[in-house]
Amino acid sequence: MIYRATHLQQNKTWNADVCIIGTGAGGSAAASKFSSKGLKVIMVEAGEFLLPKDMNQREQDMFPKLFYEGGARRTRDKSIRVIHGKGVGGSTLHNINLCKKPPKELIDHWELDGFSYQKFLPSVNQVWQDLKVSEIDSSQRNTANELFKKGIDHLGLSGGPLFHNRVGCYQSGFCELGCSFNAKMNALRVYVPKIIENAGIILSETRAKKLHVRNKKISHLTCEVFNPQNQKVSTQIIRAKHFVSAAGAIESPLLFQRSDVPDPFGQIGKNLRLHPGVVALGVFEQTVNCWQGIPQSYECDEYLKFSKDPNVNRVWLITSSAHPIGASSIVPGFGESHKSMMRQYPHIVPITPMIHDFSAGHVSSSFGGGVDINYSLIQSDRDQLSLGLKKASKILLAAGATKVIIPTRAPITLKNFNEVERANFSVLNWDLDMVAVHPMGSLSMEIIQKPARSIPIFVIIIWKIYL
Ligand SMILES: Cc1cc2nc3c(=O)[nH]c(=O)nc-3n(C[C@H](O)[C@H](O)[C@H](O)COP(=O)(O)OP(=O)(O)OC[C@H]3O[C@@H](n4cnc5c(N)ncnc54)[C@H](O)[C@@H]3O)c2cc1C
Repeated sequence: MIYRATHLQQNKTWNADVCIIGTGAGGSAAASKFSSKGLKVIMVEAGEFLLPKDMNQREQDMFPKLFYEGGARRTRDKSIRVIHGKGVGGSTLHNINLCKKPPKELIDHWELDGFSYQKFLPSVNQVWQDLKVSEIDSSQRNTANELFKKGIDHLGLSGGPLFHNRVGCYQSGFCELGCSFNAKMNALRVYVPKIIENAGIILSETRAKKLHVRNKKISHLTCEVFNPQNQKVSTQIIRAKHFVSAAGAIESPLLFQRSDVPDPFGQIGKNLRLHPGVVALGVFEQTVNCWQGIPQSYECDEYLKFSKDPNVNRVWLITSSAHPIGASSIVPGFGESHKSMMRQYPHIVPITPMIHDFSAGHVSSSFGGGVDINYSLIQSDRDQLSLGLKKASKILLAAGATKVIIPTRAPITLKNFNEVERANFSVLNWDLDMVAVHPMGSLSMEIIQKPARSIPIFVIIIWKIYL
């Protein structure tokens, strides 16, 4: 059963075996598993319960519904936009459906007692099976990705097709605004029906406010229900034997910080990683319309290695696409110069260099009750982004771009390889817009036993607290 704010007008206390906070990638997979074992599961979700018919492909409507702060949330110094989703299904409602298995080297680096790649892999394989993950067929590659592949092949770089969890895709290109065709094999389509079938309960528009600790154990959770006009309508209390925090790497630490949960090593909210990315724009004579079709179907992994040494290359190259309003907020310039850049947009192939970052941030509440994401790039991360911009520029020119634009405040235009070699690709704050879509790592595991290592958590943070 799914309850919306309209059904939750009265204060109420609920009882469950497991209470899960957040219905996204991690929370929904956990709830499906627990409920299939006969456990009584209650999930709380701050966002709305939307169906494919509600995804109207309009940025002005969908951004506020699907993203925290309408997708405009930024780091403390405003240099990086940090995008994080909400709604029943969490960030899987709007995400781009790429599926990559965690690299073995990375899991090995975590060095967690009792946890290994071999132990983790069967769970990953199970999720791939549930989501019907498949390779993106070359017939489904849009022009932007085809040109990207052309450049990679021309330069002899390592690359290949990506995998995705779509079935019945119409290639409309509106993935980021939620799929109106229900082609995403996401939490909403795959796990939520199973949870409901197994008598699970989801309280939507319900924000977990505080976990209460009694006798060294979490006794209950207090939640507040808000209607779509952001007015508080009731308080819901959930008593459960186990609590799972799967509210994402920004919201989960905030919940822990405003709760009574002990933090003996001061780790809650620390070690935040973001995978920040920038963009290089290739201008082609032909029409590309990069926002149409499957947005990302090909990758270049030539410069992506997973080493403990920050000087080893660790930049991933993929295409990116944004619908016109989103694109206009990234493209530099004002008035006429901005207009002329946007006129070229149908001819642009954007490539995003995204890094496996070593910079570590800290999430906490801001004075106004919002979120403070204190994250600054270390120099080696800036160097990796610069490297990515240089390599992306070469790929675009090799694919036949007439020019490449690096959208710094005073845009850099590059017309040939010599100009790329001579260009200064320094990545400076407020000069080049940066975007992060993979916040992670801010609730380290083993927090109770010893000071934690930094652990990028891909899918789920399961917390069973017995102190
Ligand atoms: C634009 C974009 C594109 C992406 N594309 C891809 C991709 O192609 N492939 C990929 O693997 N990953 C992609 N990601 C990342 C991926 O979606 C996330 O890593 C993943 O969804 C995280 O899962 P999660 O369960 O930790 O959090 P989420 O899926 O974000 O779910 C967390 C849920 O918790 C809820 N919540 C938060 N706080 C509270 C609270 N206090 N009370 C109640 N509920 C709360 C939120 O509303 C949200 O619904 C993308 C992300 C973005 C932003």
